[in-house]
Amino acid sequence: MTEVDKSTSSVIAGDFTPYLEAIRNDRISFTRCSTCQTWIWPPTNYCPRCKENSVTWVTLPEGTGGTVFSFIIVRHTTIPEFKDLLPYVLGIVSVDGTDIRLIGRVLCVTDDVAIGDGLAPSFEGERDDPVINWNLARQRTR
Ligand SMILES: [Zn+2]
Repeated sequence: MTEVDKSTSSVIAGDFTPYLEAIRNDRISFTRCSTCQTWIWPPTNYCPRCKENSVTWVTLPEGTGGTVFSFIIVRHTTIPEFKDLLPYVLGIVSVDGTDIRLIGRVLCVTDDVAIGDGLAPSFEGERDDPVINWNLARQRTR
């Protein structure tokens, strides 16, 4: 078994700061291995595929969207801050150009969403905890 030197990667395992900073600038940023091009999420300082420590942050092109991989409609919550949002759609979103799927709110009428729908990001970067929500953007593929 090869010992991996994790001390020289530019990525700090579990540090989401560059991701959050990208959202504040209306962009999406993930980590990727520059040796084998594997997308890595959540961020870690070595590649789980090729074991190299050549992981770097990559900011996706402006306008990068996603596709609904799966979703649920949330109709009940015990979290007081979310009660005014009910019902809402919580989606698993395949981010275009990557192998990464994010969980996020899909901002739409609950009956309008379907698996395969195209999405455009809606950045809430002004929050203390920036998030990406998603708007329906393209015709359904079904
Ligand atoms: Zn790799």
